[in-house]
Formats: sequence, structure tokens, C-alpha cells
Amino acid sequence: MVNDKNLKITFCSGAGTVTGANFLLEGNDKKFLIDCGLIQGEKIADDLNWEKFPYDASLIDILFITHSHIDHIGRIPKLISEGFKGRIVSTMPTKEIADVMLVDTAHLLSREEHYDLASIYTPANIEKALDLWETLEYGQKLNVDHGFQFSFKDAGHILGSGMLEIIYNGKKIVFTGDLGNSPSPLLPDTEVIDDADYMIMESCYGDRNHEEREERKKKLEEVIKNNYENKGTLIIPTFSLERTQELLYEMNSLVENNIVPRMPVFLDSPLSIKLTKVYLKYGRYFNIKALSIIATGDKLFDFPGLKETPTTEDSKAILDVPPPKIIIAGSGMSNGGRILHHEKNYLPGKNNTILLTGYQSVGTLGRFIYDGVKKVHIMGEEVNIRAQMAIISGYSGHKDSDHLIEFVENTANTLKKVFVVMGEPKSSMFLAQKLNDSLGIDAYVPTVGESVIIKC
Ligand SMILES: [Zn+2]
Repeated sequence: MVNDKNLKITFCSGAGTVTGANFLLEGNDKKFLIDCGLIQGEKIADDLNWEKFPYDASLIDILFITHSHIDHIGRIPKLISEGFKGRIVSTMPTKEIADVMLVDTAHLLSREEHYDLASIYTPANIEKALDLWETLEYGQKLNVDHGFQFSFKDAGHILGSGMLEIIYNGKKIVFTGDLGNSPSPLLPDTEVIDDADYMIMESCYGDRNHEEREERKKKLEEVIKNNYENKGTLIIPTFSLERTQELLYEMNSLVENNIVPRMPVFLDSPLSIKLTKVYLKYGRYFNIKALSIIATGDKLFDFPGLKETPTTEDSKAILDVPPPKIIIAGSGMSNGGRILHHEKNYLPGKNNTILLTGYQSVGTLGRFIYDGVKKVHIMGEEVNIRAQMAIISGYSGHKDSDHLIEFVENTANTLKKVFVVMGEPKSSMFLAQKLNDSLGIDAYVPTVGESVIIKC
């Protein structure tokens, strides 16, 4: 049993896989959850999501949310339906983005006929979650009885993202959530941590490095110029949250400085349109460069040629617009959303280009395209891929292998152990090995369902 000095961490999900973050921290008669995400693979929500949680949801004191990606928040309505009545705590932008994301996910999942999702993913359960939800500024401390103190540091991953720091019995435990690929065009850099005793860290890119950022903007410029010369359609399946705003921000700079020729650019995603509004509202969380551009009166996410297409009719009308043109649409891994229609229409054309800007999970259509498959099935139709493919991996929202190690190195002197989670097994294993070899850190890759005791 757990005694006063020890804490127990259970990796309920989000170990040995990138998605589904859900960690249980117990000690001194308290129970906390860190994130409550959807497990996502081929489908927006894997069947595993709908099994009962391995803990009694009604006994959880607080659920902390590191950030509002759906693989960190997507099972909150289920937690509510299993009787959760504790507090939910995050930063302010995380709460507001979560509201938009959960409503959107409810809309997608309501089409699923299994697992009685219509009674789990209800507006009432989402509403109830928002009522229980409190917010903290970065650095603001939350003291909880039985000797716990919590606060968030900026993770620089998406707007509002935070690393959760827990102080208990003089020891510091850090749940990193996802760690940003700093420097980000919009967000401040990931804050330094140099005094952690234990760390539970992500490893999405634990075994790979990204292209340099300069190459990234240059490559976007080239892809846009090529598409103009080819008189093609450039389709960009993209994540509505953060990636879309980064792209708009960089396109804003390329177009307004006349670096690329002007052509119609369609933001064909109701979700992206809604989230971009939240970004505009919380501009005060941006980095100094972005703040200085805002101060000149420039609208960061708007430029000549950009058109939002919120309705289905607007979206269908894009087909009638002659190329060259650019279409930004969700979802980022092509596993749903309006991008599927555009992929069906434009992937067969050899003058067209598909630009992949993010991680493509195993089993998704995006991953098949990324792997160079020449024939795919989209909405029941066989589609030949003749379009050119461009990949800009520098757009990743995650730190790459070298930067994850650099991040841990800052606190190498105080660390007792690192638990490497939220990565595919080979990524997590590689990172753990590297932390061990190059920094001499005790790094461990837990399996799903495993519990560990840490001494405080
Ligand atoms: Zn994330």
C-alpha cells in the first residue's frame, strides 16, 4: 500500500503509444488524474476508449489537463458519465479550446452507432465538465490539502499548453504533457525545468530529428511557388489546432511581403475557423515577435486571397474556382473531415500537390499517403495518387529527439528517474536508451496499466 512518503503512478493509457494520455497519481489519500485523452489510431476513437476506466471516477479529486489536444481531453465526457465530480484544472486558453474541441468531437462521434456514445458524449456532460473546470495562469500555485502543490509551466506546444509541476514532500514531479518544437512562430519557448526529481515525459519524436526551421519556411515558399507555376491545387491536410494558425501566420508573412504570388487560399474547416478566433482572443500568450507584429496593426491570420468557407455550400464551391489555389482543411491525418473530399478530387491530378505538415499515425489515410502508396480508398472509392507529395516535418508541434534530450539535460543533476511515455514503442525505447547512455539518467518505458511507486 501507498504510505505517506510514497506516490503511486499508474499509466492507465498513453504508454507505448502516442495518444490516449491518462495517468493516475495517488498518495496520502488523494487521487489525481493527469489528462484524459482519446486513444486514436485508424479511427478517431479506438474501441479501447469505451472500456470502463481502471479506477473509480467518482473518487478522483482533481483532473489536471496539460493541453487541449483531443488525445489529452477526449475522454472527459466519459469520465463525467462514470461519475467524476471532482475539479478540473488547466490554463485559461486550454479550457476555452477544450470547449470547442469537445463539441466538435461530440459531433463526429455521434455518428458512431456502437458503445452508446450518444449517451456519453452529450452536451450535458460537456457542460458539466466546463462547470467543474477552473483555470490557472502559468506559474500560479494551487495548494491542495494533504501537502500537494500544483502549477503549470509553459510547454510551448499549443496555445495554453502546460507542463504540470507537482511538489510533494519537498520533491518535484513533472508531467510534461506534449513538449513544443521551440522556437515556435507564435508561442514562447518551452520553459526550462532544472529542479525536477521525477519526470513523466512524452516521446512522440523520441527517435527522430526534424528539419531546421529556416528550411521549413523556405520549403513552404517553394511548395506554394511550384503550385502556382504548375497551375495546380495545393491541398494541405492540417490539424485545426495550432498547425493551422502557424500556417496562416507564415502565409501571412509570405503573401504580404510579396515573397509568393497571390492566389486563392481557402480555410475550409469550421473547426479551424472557430479555433483561430480563440487564438485571436488570447494573443497575449504569444511570443514577443508575434506580439510586435500585432502591435503594428497587422492581422496575424488574415491576408489577401484568404477566404473562410464555413458552410458545406461554401466548401463545395471551391471546386469551381480555377487553379492555382490552395486548400487548407482538416483532418491532419486525413482520417475524416472535409479534406477527404479534396483528396478524392485532387490526388489523381499530376499538377496538384499534397503537403503533409505533421505526424501521420499508423493506419490513417495520411500515413498511407506519407508512405507513398499509389492507390487508396477514400469514402468507398478507389483513388489513384498522381499528385506530388511534399513533406515539411519541421512543422511538428513536438520536440525532436535531440531537443527532448536537451530538455532533460537541464535537470539531469536533480533527476532520479524519467518515465518515457506517449510515443510508439521504438521511439520511447530509443529515447530512454539515449537518456541513459548520454546523460546517465535512469529512464524507464512503462507499459499500459503498469503502476510504479516513487519515493518522496
Ligand atoms: Zn498535443
